[in-house]
Amino acid sequence: MSYVKKGILVATKHQKEQVIGPIFKKYLGCETFVTEFDTDKLGTFTGEIPRLKDAMSICKDKAVMAAQLTGHPYALASEGSFGPHPIMPFLPYAQEWMVFVDLESDITIFEEIKTSETNYQTKWIDVDSDINDFLNQVKFPSHGLCLQTSCLKTVIAKGIQSHQQLQEALKNGFELDTRLLLSTDMRAMMNPSRMNVIEKLSEQLVLRIKSLCPQCQSPGFGRAGVAGHLACQQCHMPSEFPALEVWACVQCDYQENRPRKDGKVNIDPQYCQFCNP
Ligand SMILES: [Zn+2]
Ligand SMILES: [Zn+2]
Repeated sequence: MSYVKKGILVATKHQKEQVIGPIFKKYLGCETFVTEFDTDKLGTFTGEIPRLKDAMSICKDKAVMAAQLTGHPYALASEGSFGPHPIMPFLPYAQEWMVFVDLESDITIFEEIKTSETNYQTKWIDVDSDINDFLNQVKFPSHGLCLQTSCLKTVIAKGIQSHQQLQEALKNGFELDTRLLLSTDMRAMMNPSRMNVIEKLSEQLVLRIKSLCPQCQSPGFGRAGVAGHLACQQCHMPSEFPALEVWACVQCDYQENRPRKDGKVNIDPQYCQFCNP
């Protein structure tokens, strides 16, 4: 694979190469490098530049733009999206995507992580608010903060990493507005929890790049969907849980069914909609 020899570009201005680089070196023996590419043009977490597309499309756009701008055909990018957990809304939730593009062979390989291992949180505050619990929960000051006004969401400060910086930002903020939005800074270099997730995701992606299609030998052969329904142990009726993983090639139409990663071949009756409605 020529990207192993020529190296892969990492489209980031938030130091993600620090965790991605060693993983690609370890598994592919491949160098990574960074360009001066302003990924914020595609949207920022604090909303000064709105994100016009979904995170997965932005992720691919970043990698493709970086490759086109530099003329280097192999590039990586990652993108995160944060909010409340879809089922347990009191928990924070992160979705991270990472993509590898090879413009020479027209290959796009995605990997994704969904996790509650994030400090993502926001808090509306006024001048009398007690923010100590919030600061502990979001692991400040090891993890950075942002402060914005309530009306226009003007950013007063981001990358706040000390109590002194926070006091100054709060002082400036309350001169502009009576209500402020304090939030976790989700940029990778400000957020060690996010950096850990990006490291895990880069391992997932590099393993997928190394996984070759049995038919055409293209890199990126892996899980693309699910199929079938696991049956209930007791009544043998189908459940809503999928029975198989579908692995597919990113280049040709080859695909195959594989057993579930967790090894399950049926479900416990307590999860069955017939035995335990
Ligand atoms: Zn193939
Ligand atoms: Zn059943």
